[in-house]
Amino acid sequence: MRILDIRERTVSLADPMRSAAIGFDDMTVSAVALVTDAVRGGENVVGYGFGSIGRYGQSGLLRERFIPRLLAADPETLADADGGNLDPFRVFDALMRNEKSGGHGERPAAVGVIDMAIWDAIAKADDSPLWSLLAEYYNPDGPDARVPVYASGGHYHPEGGVGGLTDELMSYLDLGYRRLKIKIGAAPMVEDLARVEAALSVVGSGDNLAVDLNASLDGTSANEWLDALAPYDLAWIEEPGDPLDFALQSSLCARYEGPLATGENLFSQADARNLIRHGGLRSDRDILQFDIALSYGLVEYMRILEMLAGQGWSRRQCLPHAGHLLSLHAAAGLGLGGHEAAPDPALSYGGFPDGTVVEDGFVTPPQAPGIGFETKANLWSILEPLGK
Ligand code: MG
Repeated sequence: MRILDIRERTVSLADPMRSAAIGFDDMTVSAVALVTDAVRGGENVVGYGFGSIGRYGQSGLLRERFIPRLLAADPETLADADGGNLDPFRVFDALMRNEKSGGHGERPAAVGVIDMAIWDAIAKADDSPLWSLLAEYYNPDGPDARVPVYASGGHYHPEGGVGGLTDELMSYLDLGYRRLKIKIGAAPMVEDLARVEAALSVVGSGDNLAVDLNASLDGTSANEWLDALAPYDLAWIEEPGDPLDFALQSSLCARYEGPLATGENLFSQADARNLIRHGGLRSDRDILQFDIALSYGLVEYMRILEMLAGQGWSRRQCLPHAGHLLSLHAAAGLGLGGHEAAPDPALSYGGFPDGTVVEDGFVTPPQAPGIGFETKANLWSILEPLGK
């Protein structure tokens, strides 16, 4: 299989919702189509990539640097041992040629969206869903027949208040979810605790509710919030403080007994390693949310999993950020702890392949070849024109 062409465009994900950190009014993401010379069903195999929400599109990096570099690479240097398929690890090396270590910035998301298209094309050429391929090659325990999923919502909306929040959360239970996550940290504590208690009245117990502070607190306020939240025994508290302040993270782990979650704003194996070395996280309870699409893609993610294993961490503590279809395949194929879902199927980046049913908090991995972007109509309507 050889790469014939790579196309990209920036797609709007604009939405009036807010977290404690940002508004999504101007949010964008990069989409990529990677055309290959492999033929299935009379058509060229095209791999697709679609970025993860939260970091905007990377059109400049893709157009000026990574796409031309990969198209200029000698095809022999991108092929696997028998020359029949692309080797994603060799493609990664080609993409990262002449790139210095450290200072990861926006680069990991640009590489990640191409890496995603490569894996999609490889799995399609094999006529397999990506999770199956990942399990075959990278998970001696084999794939998970069902993946635990949780619904991530409870943002701040211009209208709604606590009544809007509980309506939203009840709709997620109706869809089949059991565990939910809401945003806190943008309102005064008394208002947010009222939101937490309203959410608990919907889900029934703290074990079914996580809260996300979106890195909104400093050391003093983080201590106050963790103390106030402790009696609720929540499933986890996510990103209380700056994601790069490992000393703060370590002090919070020493103070708060329940599970803490972080990692969605670290984008490399080297950054993940620093978090594990210096963040004080506890491998028996804390949750690691590295976002595969934003962190150079699956090649780098497998290096992160290898690093974690060496530090005594189970893959089951990993719950990638943002509900991307790619992450669902990784969760099922690599044996991760589960999948975050943006549960509104009307969102291009949310939900699952059309027709997927959430049953008692679990989904069955999809069967379409590749990542299966073709099976989610509103996302496919964005990607399909790129591949033509
Ligand atoms: Mg988060």
